[in-house]
Amino acid sequence: MEKKLTLICDKCKVNLTLANVHFSYLDHNFRHKVLRCPECGQVYLSEELVAKMKEVEATFEDK
Ligand SMILES: [Zn+2]
Repeated sequence: MEKKLTLICDKCKVNLTLANVHFSYLDHNFRHKVLRCPECGQVYLSEELVAKMKEVEATFEDK
C-alpha cells in the first residue's frame, strides 16, 4: 500500500506543503520534514514524527 502524501487542510481547502520545520521538544532540538498548510500554518503531525518525539522522550527519561 502506498501512502498518499498529499493532504488538504480542513480549514483552508488547500494542499499541505512539505516544510522543514525546527522543533524544540524536552530540551532537544531537531528538524523534521512535515506537511504544513501554507495558509494557516497548521502542521500535520505524521506518525513518523510522533515516533520521533517518543524517541526523544525515551532518551530524556533515561538520563
Ligand atoms: Zn490551513
